[in-house]
Amino acid sequence: MRVRTLAAVLLTGALALTACGKEGAPADQGAAPAGLFEVAKDVTVAGSPTFDKAKSRGSLIIGVKEDQPGLGYKDPTTNKYSGFDIDIAKLISAKLGFDPEKIQYKTVQSAAREQALINGDVDYYVGTYTINAGRKEKVAFAGPYFVAGQDLLVKKDNADITSKDTLKGKKVCSVTGSTPAKRIKDEKLTEEGNVLEFQGYSQCVTKLLNGEVDAVTTDDAILKGYAAAEEGKLKVVGKPFSSEPYGIGLPKDDKALRDKVNDILQASLDDGTWQKIYDGTLGKSGSSAEKPKIDRY
Ligand code: GLU
Repeated sequence: MRVRTLAAVLLTGALALTACGKEGAPADQGAAPAGLFEVAKDVTVAGSPTFDKAKSRGSLIIGVKEDQPGLGYKDPTTNKYSGFDIDIAKLISAKLGFDPEKIQYKTVQSAAREQALINGDVDYYVGTYTINAGRKEKVAFAGPYFVAGQDLLVKKDNADITSKDTLKGKKVCSVTGSTPAKRIKDEKLTEEGNVLEFQGYSQCVTKLLNGEVDAVTTDDAILKGYAAAEEGKLKVVGKPFSSEPYGIGLPKDDKALRDKVNDILQASLDDGTWQKIYDGTLGKSGSSAEKPKIDRY
């Protein structure tokens, strides 16, 4: 039953996010025009063990999310991935000289990201991954390529949750290993027993729709995707209370690849590619279009 509900949520979302989606049309999370992903020739990234490994493998393994409409979403019928994060992942892949067919997407949930990069299970990771000091001890980040903020998702008719300071006594759902789950606990925004954690946000959304929790908390960009997916049923409170700069997760010591990915992101911001990717994906669910500033730490 829960699986059916989730599938319905995501399918509806896919249709809602497609500007011209007809009923019964294949689910499409939106995508940038295909020409944006022209594959670069004869690319080398001197001194990057990750790039060398991918080259000899002949494909890139990219860690992503699969249940975040508009960002990283896997269509349950076609198994195709789409969204802003996916297009950013594709852009990087193309500029590294890999054809989109040579990408192997691997779904990695929030709590497992650092270890996936440390193990070399993925070459890089693109999935609403906030850059912060704690994570930088284990992995490296290129970017940011977007800046979100923590917010709250509630039922449309909810009148008593209006900010982070109105959560006492309320059941709040988030994801294990995420910055929003940590913040809600660190700042004691609700009682410890009222915080529920799952592996993915779609599980929280199902609980919210069922009335088992009062709010879901994570980045506004993610929540807007769910609100668009469940048109008329859910709303984002709209008072973000953190800054979540999204980075491309990379193996910690691969500075050569980090520099290369930063160059790719900077060029996409300068030549309009980033804007086109944004317009084709996140822009449709109403997220801020403010361009990020690359941090070459
Ligand atoms: N951006 C936050 C984080 O990296 C929340 C979203 C997520 O869990 O991916 O923890």
